[in-house]
Amino acid sequence: MKKSKKIAALILVAAMTALALGGCGSSSDDGESTENGDSEKTPHYIVATEPTFPPFDTTDEDGNIVGFDMDLMNAIAEEEGFTVEYKAFEFDSLIPSVQSGNADIIAAGMNAMDPERQEKVDFSDTYYDSALVVVVKADNDTVTGFDTLGSDMRVASQIGTTGADKANELAEAGEIGEAVINNGYDTCMLQLQNGDVDAVIVDKPVAETYIAKQGGTTKIVGEPEGAESYGFAVQKGNEELLAQINDGLAKLVEDGTYDELVAKWFQ
Ligand code: GLN
Repeated sequence: MKKSKKIAALILVAAMTALALGGCGSSSDDGESTENGDSEKTPHYIVATEPTFPPFDTTDEDGNIVGFDMDLMNAIAEEEGFTVEYKAFEFDSLIPSVQSGNADIIAAGMNAMDPERQEKVDFSDTYYDSALVVVVKADNDTVTGFDTLGSDMRVASQIGTTGADKANELAEAGEIGEAVINNGYDTCMLQLQNGDVDAVIVDKPVAETYIAKQGGTTKIVGEPEGAESYGFAVQKGNEELLAQINDGLAKLVEDGTYDELVAKWFQ
């Protein structure tokens, strides 16, 4: 009798330990927000981005992922009661990362109006309107827009983007010599400065940010093409998270936070 009581007590202790450990291990929070003691209930999401897309997605001097998208997503998370951490992917791996569950949200200046993308992920309400432009060296006076790119020209863009689609389309039509598709827009802009390519096709606000950074050695020519609108994306069918993102976004637009962030990141 005595012995079985002891065993029962041991089993109880073991079960309680397992529960406590289990509670820790399966927590969806990394323990950063422990002030109120209920951090285990705070959902924690991995946000996938591609950080060569300033001012939306970039890195600071210490290598941290920062930008308009991050500030906006941080504010949504705070509003809706979840925490986030950012992970860098190549642009064409963003959608697969959310499809496979390696990430929960995409925040990457991604055009939400693309039907092929809409088949693979669910997009939030859109948060920024944009379009593609042609960037050339400041002293180039032959290229004045999309229609004056030539069949002898090499035109760079980033893999998996609307800009790459456009460059590939122009190459197939013989309107440019070659579409040079790189992993990052930083590489495209460097190639332009070095004279390795004749032009870059990129989203207008991003072009403006790189041009300012490069001290005006490059410039936008002609009119923007292909209007697009950026949205955040989640795994298909994740209605709960999508509703939270939309709710948070609407509140931030209403209370003026959205405008403050635009003022902070866009000159
Ligand atoms: N807006 C473009 C797209 O959706 C490029 C986005 C990016 O490079 N981050 O394809």
